[in-house]
Amino acid sequence: MRRAIVTSIIVGIGLLLFFVFYNSPEPVIPSLEQTGNLKAVHSIIGTSVEGRNIEKYTYLPAQAGGSGGAHIAFVGGIHGGYEWNSVVLAYNFIDYLDQNPEVIPKNLTITVIPSANPDGVYKVIGKEGRFTIKDVSKSVAKALGRFNSNKVDLNRNFDCKWQPKSMWQEKIVSAGTKPFSEPESLAIKRFVLENNLDAIIFWHSQSGAVYASQCESGILPETLKIMNVYSIASGYRAVPSFDSYQTTGDVEGWLAKIGVPAITVELKTHETIEWEENLAGAKALFEYYGNKTINENIGNELDKSDLIRLDNPRPNQVIGSPLIITGEARGYWFFEASFPVFLTNWDGLIIAQGIATAQSDPATSGEVNWMTTEFVPFKATLKFVVDKNAYSNRGFLILRKDNPSGLPENDNALEIPVKIF
Ligand SMILES: [Zn+2]
Repeated sequence: MRRAIVTSIIVGIGLLLFFVFYNSPEPVIPSLEQTGNLKAVHSIIGTSVEGRNIEKYTYLPAQAGGSGGAHIAFVGGIHGGYEWNSVVLAYNFIDYLDQNPEVIPKNLTITVIPSANPDGVYKVIGKEGRFTIKDVSKSVAKALGRFNSNKVDLNRNFDCKWQPKSMWQEKIVSAGTKPFSEPESLAIKRFVLENNLDAIIFWHSQSGAVYASQCESGILPETLKIMNVYSIASGYRAVPSFDSYQTTGDVEGWLAKIGVPAITVELKTHETIEWEENLAGAKALFEYYGNKTINENIGNELDKSDLIRLDNPRPNQVIGSPLIITGEARGYWFFEASFPVFLTNWDGLIIAQGIATAQSDPATSGEVNWMTTEFVPFKATLKFVVDKNAYSNRGFLILRKDNPSGLPENDNALEIPVKIF
């Protein structure tokens, strides 16, 4: 009897443990063990006119067993010493992430660029790199620290409606000799183009609001979403379009133009960092992107993996023309050794089409043989013209099973999302 009780207790515990582990959903927030002692990877994205380093700190929880996913960046101090509090906020944020790496979901990469205009900071603070509120002298005129050492307002030097002169409130400011004429803007541009960023948050001061961004083609839907996410969590009011005065060449506008969601967060004053508000805003974005990328849209690739497999491009990859498409498909995906491929824009309009053809298979002594049920390599090339004014750079690549019968039950297609540039 006692043995029966002990046995059933053991079986009961076993079953309980089985259900707990078996039913546990993938945790969004990794524990400390999962992230290990995650430390920022510190590097330099460029140098200022006077040769000061523009630093970046990147946190890669994916290296500790995560799955990759979204990459979001936070940038302070593009307006230098005039908005020095945005730089202090960014350094505080780095300290916080160093001490609390578990707040970063393991499928997120976070980059912080604390001081995008280090010459402007130096003009006001007299320090390079890290500084604190105590280092800020009350008597120094801060307005000049807004510009870089060529007296250019960097947030007017980007490629969106760029003009040589632009406005800062009622004042005329220099926007440089051409878009990206300044090394500081160029450093940001390179960083953006080298990293597949899902969103960028710029910290400024002072108006206590979160702004969306746009260039010629309106606000990206994703930008509106993250503006609201940050606004609700931080308590700053959300402002979809900045119309206090006409600006040109702002970095957020350029990002909108190339399809990268960006928001501007303006602190309430030029002296406070409003830590709780901004930490709440940043954490809300972590949660938003952490949950989102677990369910990241990779099209129907998994459903079709026993029929057709794509090596290039991969889901959500940035593609340009000409696009070389390679992969392998079952012989019956082809007819007469080929099948059609299409590229559509965000609106579903076909912007390119072509034919994928069966390639010789090294496994079968280089013969082209599609009369098989085995996987056969294929290749296609698509050429297309990018619509620079497109509302969104999202599109779909569709690889359709050839269907000589015309019967709908024989229709099949692999569809994956891509980003078109
Ligand atoms: Zn500013």
